[in-house]
Amino acid sequence: MSADKSGVTTVGLRPEDVAELRRSVAGPVLEPGSEEYAAECATYNLTCGLRPAVVVGATSEPDVCAAVRFAVRHGLPVAVKSAAHQVVSAAQGGLLITTRRMQRIVVDEQRRTVRTEAGVRWRDVLPRTAELGLAPIVGSAPDVGVVGYTLGGGQSPLLGRSLGYAADHVRRLNMVTADGELRRVTPQSEPDLFWAVLGGKGNFGVVTEIEFEVFPVSRFYGGGIYFPGEHLAQVLEAWRAWLPTVGEDMTSSIGVQRLPDVPEVPEPLRGAFVIHLRIGYLGSAAEGAELIAPLRASAPVLADLVEEKPFTAIGDIHLDPVDPKPYFDRTVCLEEFSEKTAQAFVDLTGPESGCTLANVEIRALGGAFDREPAVPNAVPSRGLPYVVFGLAVGAPDQAQPLRAELARVMDGLAPWTAQRNLVNFLSPDEATDAEGVRQVYGAERFDRLAAVKKRYDPANVFRFNHNITPA
Ligand SMILES: Cc1cc2nc3c(=O)[nH]c(=O)nc-3n(C[C@H](O)[C@H](O)[C@H](O)COP(=O)(O)OP(=O)(O)OC[C@H]3O[C@@H](n4cnc5c(N)ncnc54)[C@H](O)[C@@H]3O)c2cc1C
Repeated sequence: MSADKSGVTTVGLRPEDVAELRRSVAGPVLEPGSEEYAAECATYNLTCGLRPAVVVGATSEPDVCAAVRFAVRHGLPVAVKSAAHQVVSAAQGGLLITTRRMQRIVVDEQRRTVRTEAGVRWRDVLPRTAELGLAPIVGSAPDVGVVGYTLGGGQSPLLGRSLGYAADHVRRLNMVTADGELRRVTPQSEPDLFWAVLGGKGNFGVVTEIEFEVFPVSRFYGGGIYFPGEHLAQVLEAWRAWLPTVGEDMTSSIGVQRLPDVPEVPEPLRGAFVIHLRIGYLGSAAEGAELIAPLRASAPVLADLVEEKPFTAIGDIHLDPVDPKPYFDRTVCLEEFSEKTAQAFVDLTGPESGCTLANVEIRALGGAFDREPAVPNAVPSRGLPYVVFGLAVGAPDQAQPLRAELARVMDGLAPWTAQRNLVNFLSPDEATDAEGVRQVYGAERFDRLAAVKKRYDPANVFRFNHNITPA
């Protein structure tokens, strides 16, 4: 028996313990050393390896209950992995529950709701809702998991400015808390837990099922326009002047990208330094074209991919990379994007900057992102008008220079940076201690979260995350 640095006691697992676990679950129980274990621990970010003491491939709610009860009985902290797009801890010495076998999706056309099990990704939901002319509040990458995305807020590059965060439209969750109980969590049944888990993410238990609203949207006008990177200052200036003129049905962002010189990237973008303007518009194509005309005219165009699209093509707006790769990332929210901020952005990332980051993107939020939902939740980024995300691609042996470059760019924006942040974009390098997490949520929200944590997870069983320590 030993105590790790956060004080949680961990116990070495004996063969008979593992045998007991195997008897109690229907899914596979995997230990280090096997190929199945390595496959089950695979992550999207290849710098974030998972090394738990044992993995349970959950197939159902009873499997999750049994795994959590076993972990608590044996002093193992619990991690959960769905689509692995935000692994922030190796989960060393812990029990990892993987949810990819839990794939049920139920669409209720009358009530305009969808229920999914914990392993479902947005790409699995989209065709099911599209056949009924409905759409969920999905993010830029349909490959991410529904549950992780939604518990972290869920910021959509198409529906967010008019409908708010995905978390704002959750009706119900089933979740297994640290006592091993399966709870049906609604605003009526468990008001504090409902508030906390929507924004507080994996800190309160393992969500096995989530029910959320969907909306009658079947198409959009959008995609990306690429400009040569040398024109960054003028594109940013045009965007800044244009943003206050558009409504909540228009969402946009700009990525400053150094694209890789690989065959998958088509000419003339291959290996190029580009500005990637992203547009997601819910009105007609004709209105959209008129609205974005000043942006199209702001610089010579390398490639224009903005057009009428079915909702299922939402991934085309950002064209996020799909294949796993090694990377480091950081995120800040900005209080404003003034002329001076834009100038700093150009100085830090533009043609003369020497910037080596693969992508530095700024998303405009606002609109419904700022409004409190009908049932309040713990999403902390409300009222922050912009989020900036920096991405440095490279293997762990390049960690030092890549992190330094990320720090140069992100810290350079410090005069405009808020302390609160977007939970979904936090990397393993951010909010690494209690004070950092407190800043992400703001003191008052954090204190309430810590009080709910104390009630539902006093021993901090769920701590392989941006950890809210029990009050
Ligand atoms: C390319 C890319 C694009 C993205 N675009 C957007 C975007 O547009 N908008 C946005 O809001 N976010 C975006 N994200 C962030 C994404 O929503 C989060 O990283 C999300 O957590 C991913 O969920 P996952 O299942 O893929 O990850 P996982 O690594 O499997 O899970 C991440 C965390 O979510 C929690 N979690 C997952 N499943 C459960 C569960 N069943 N019960 C309890 N907790 C659980 C846990 O804390 C877990 O550690 C993007 C991420 C990437 C990599």
